[in-house]
Amino acid sequence: MKLLTHPTPIGSRFEAYGPSKLDEILRRFPVPEELAETIRLFSLVLPFRVNEYVLSELIDWTRVPEDPIFQLVFPQDGMLSKADEHALAKVATGPGRRAELPAVVKRIRQSLNPHPSGQLELNVPSLDGENLRGLQHKYRQTVLYFPQQGQTCHTYCTYCFRWAQFVGDQDLRFAVKEADELVRYLHAHPEVTDVLVTGGDPMVMSAERLRVHLEPLLAVDTVRTIRIGTKSVAYWPQRFVTDADADDTLRLYQQVVDSGRTLAVMAHYSHARELSTDIAQQAIQRILSTGARMYCQSPLIAHVNDDADALAELWAGEFTAGAVPYYLFVARDTGPHDYFKVPLSRAYELFAAAYRQLPGLARTIRGPVMSATPGKVIVDGTAEIGGESLLQLRFLQGREPALTGRPFFARHDRDAAWLDELDLLPGTPPDILGAVRSQLETKEDR
Ligand SMILES: *Cc1c(COP(=O)(O)O)cnc(C)c1O
Repeated sequence: MKLLTHPTPIGSRFEAYGPSKLDEILRRFPVPEELAETIRLFSLVLPFRVNEYVLSELIDWTRVPEDPIFQLVFPQDGMLSKADEHALAKVATGPGRRAELPAVVKRIRQSLNPHPSGQLELNVPSLDGENLRGLQHKYRQTVLYFPQQGQTCHTYCTYCFRWAQFVGDQDLRFAVKEADELVRYLHAHPEVTDVLVTGGDPMVMSAERLRVHLEPLLAVDTVRTIRIGTKSVAYWPQRFVTDADADDTLRLYQQVVDSGRTLAVMAHYSHARELSTDIAQQAIQRILSTGARMYCQSPLIAHVNDDADALAELWAGEFTAGAVPYYLFVARDTGPHDYFKVPLSRAYELFAAAYRQLPGLARTIRGPVMSATPGKVIVDGTAEIGGESLLQLRFLQGREPALTGRPFFARHDRDAAWLDELDLLPGTPPDILGAVRSQLETKEDR
């Protein structure tokens, strides 16, 4: 690994700007007053957090409000129903109504976020009769690990509602306890070869803190791959280049690689703009120089990346940078879903049109994929069979391992946006039918 020393430019220290900074941000980057008012109002309900890099290098302010990164980060018109918007405006600005605000905010948030029922309970593992809340074990080889100190992000995406659970415990002793529980679980489950560290975003942690979570894994022989799910390479590439502990972070990565394990940075990129800056490219090169690999994934989001050329540019850019295009996800029914959703049929058309433009080696991208209760389901295409138009689907991962790899068909409904809205063909095998129906009972998954 070649570690270059970078002078730290003044003002490049990470600072999160929340709703209280909105007025200052809008003074520096003026938008039409009506839009500013919507942003102020909606940020009472929707997630809002941004940083200097996203503001001054990623957003194209001359294209606001259509700019994809602006759409990704700033709450705006259409993300709340007109009824909710009016109810909110009444208590936020109406004289003497301010005391009612928290209740209205809470009600709207709950309606946006059908609470993860079932799914969380479904995959929470236990050890010695005790539930391990920071873990999720759904697919045989892979455990998801959510360190509490990684439960926030460098910037929030407006379509994400995970931030509602962003309540980190900052106590170091807690981190040690969490890592210890994970290791005990892994010793009891030698079938687990992959640990996926996720959040929020684990890369909001300092190198020192991250080490508390990663180092103990290196003592578990059965763990062969460690993945880190992160948006930091897109939202704050400084994390790997100029932050005070950037070099320590890369040394930690290298230590994982030197242990003989695969370290995969699962980078969340939504748009090619996020690859366009020098520092974004430097961050990728520095990560790869440790021997870590990079895989890229993102959901398909209306107003942000529902454009075949934009997707092709994103995936080709990832490939050129040395990373592997991996998954294009279908957005789930949380947050302002009506604003952001792309129906399955349209998602497939966009995917296919982008895929056709890619060089063969960049066709490692798979999608559109629903990460649903019974497993990961890909839309493979449309087919005309016996005069009927069908959607062709396939399990990429099954909660029930026997489902993995199995194809199935549904009637081609142009409006269907999720698995539970599909009408499966008569004659679909009972195990597939049962698995897909289980989605009806537990709407939510991550
Ligand atoms: C997507 C996912 C994984 C990883 O699946 P891969 O296909 O191996 O990338 C693991 N656990 C859960 C719960 C997932 O949703």
